Amino acid sequence: MLNANVFYSLYSVPVGILSLLVGSLSVMFIYGSKDFRGVFLFLSGGLLAFAANYLAANEIILYKVGLNSAFIIFIDMIIALVISLLWLNASSELNSGRLLDSASMTFYISACLAISIYYSFIAYNDGLGKSFFVLLQLTGLAVLLVTTVRRCWQNFSLYMFFLFLTSLMLCGKMVVSTYFFQYNWLNLNIFNWSWIYTFVASMVFGKIDLLNNDLQKSWNQIDKLNLQLTNMINFSPFPIILAKITGNRIISVNRKAEILFGITSKEVGYYQLSDFFIDEKNRNELFKTLETNHEVEDFDLMVSNIINNTPFWLSVSAKTITYNNELVLYLAFQNITLRKERENRLQNQADNDALTMAWNRRYFEKQIPLRIKEIIKKSQYFSLLMIDADKFKNINDTYGHKAGDSVLIELVDICKNSLRSNDVVCRFGGEEFVIYLDNTNSAAAMSVAERLRRTIEEAGVTDDNGNIIKFTVSIGVVSSEKTDSLDILLKQVDDAMYLAKNNGRNRIELYDEEAIRKIMKKRTAKASVHPVFNSEENEEISLLDNYDNHIISEDL
Ligand code: GH3
Ligand code: MG
Ligand code: MG
Repeated sequence: MLNANVFYSLYSVPVGILSLLVGSLSVMFIYGSKDFRGVFLFLSGGLLAFAANYLAANEIILYKVGLNSAFIIFIDMIIALVISLLWLNASSELNSGRLLDSASMTFYISACLAISIYYSFIAYNDGLGKSFFVLLQLTGLAVLLVTTVRRCWQNFSLYMFFLFLTSLMLCGKMVVSTYFFQYNWLNLNIFNWSWIYTFVASMVFGKIDLLNNDLQKSWNQIDKLNLQLTNMINFSPFPIILAKITGNRIISVNRKAEILFGITSKEVGYYQLSDFFIDEKNRNELFKTLETNHEVEDFDLMVSNIINNTPFWLSVSAKTITYNNELVLYLAFQNITLRKERENRLQNQADNDALTMAWNRRYFEKQIPLRIKEIIKKSQYFSLLMIDADKFKNINDTYGHKAGDSVLIELVDICKNSLRSNDVVCRFGGEEFVIYLDNTNSAAAMSVAERLRRTIEEAGVTDDNGNIIKFTVSIGVVSSEKTDSLDILLKQVDDAMYLAKNNGRNRIELYDEEAIRKIMKKRTAKASVHPVFNSEENEEISLLDNYDNHIISEDL
């Protein structure tokens, strides 16, 4: 009949060897922990006790190799002494992280040795010897039990609880194998291995604790770094904002940014970066650069303060960083409003005519080619007007140079007020102006020119003496319908203006090649010179400075 003993005999050896192997290796789970040495000693004691108990149950082997009973009991007691030393030291390690001090160990070893020698060789007593053998091991286990219970009490963990169970199992095994060894199946089968399984379980939980500790340490480290970062942000001399990447919702602002943007750190969650970055084009450009490069440096940005809505200029450097385990946008600002204003002022000085505040020729040459490029892309036409004050010398001569200046200022004001914001009024020199009309064909340009001429004719300027100075202009008109070459158009509009002068002044003329050819011929015959090119008569800058005059030369 199949009974427990058959089961034991068939399976206990391989199962036992495997269990011992797993048990022995499991201690490596907690390698690196401060308990490792203590647990290693615990296991060594357990394995030695296992071997000693096996030996005690099979003493017959020792007799067979020729050892006498006194020597056998002595060997048993020495093994028990080593086991108890291992367990006592395991307890000490688990308690304080140190081995027992050498004085108490010396005393303990000497006392035990003396007792062992006494009961083995001086007054041989098998019963007392065996009891001492058990007592020594139980002492070690009792101390281990107290240690594990204490550790569980202080800070419960499944790891320590299973180590406590292991001690308890070993105690049980000790008691059972000593007093109930007749229950062979209990002694050799189930109870024998159970302690190693609780030990393995303890090591597994110990490993989990170790991993948790490592994780906790990493979290603590992250918290520390985040705190450092927060402090660095808060104490930075620059305004700093942290915002979510998607949606740009603001997460955090430092004190300087609170003042700059007019918000408090409590209400940051309600705002997005776009609430402050008011110029849409400028803002989109920033976000686009960030999307592709994940960082920008010294990007000029137009922003506004939430409280007073005043727009101002900031230079921003931004980068995506990890903050509180989230990828966020870090933006550091520098207020550059004063610098921007200075730049704008200088730019205006460089691009504007100081007397009339019209754009100057430098600006025209820089900007108009760009505008033309844009308008060609859109397949639209543009036109140019050239305006020259009629008999301006007379105004200067009659009313004085200052009055002449006032006339020029008034003339520009009229032009600016009569035109759209995307038209460009430039003073080309003296009393000559060129106007760029955006998205305008020749018919529309003619009506604009006529309107200007009439408005100017009707206007007047009062000089310091109360004289009302009336003035008129001649306007040449050309459009990009036939050519969009700026050089050619400028020469044509100059010719058209000359035509207007020639045809009696205070009038407008569209460029007409035939008409120009005729008057040029007439002029050659009279050997007269176009007043614009007459340097003796004209003190002003020639209209054709910097322009190649081959077309006019050809005509001449
Ligand atoms: P036309 O009708 O043929 O244009 O006659 P005009 O007298 O206007 O002829 P012209 O172009 O020869 O004269 C321009 C005058 O404008 C000469 C110059 O003294 C005067 N002028 C140029 N710049 C200024 C300025 O800034 N202020 C004043 N007051 N006069 C200027
Ligand atoms: Mg002139
Ligand atoms: Mg003139």
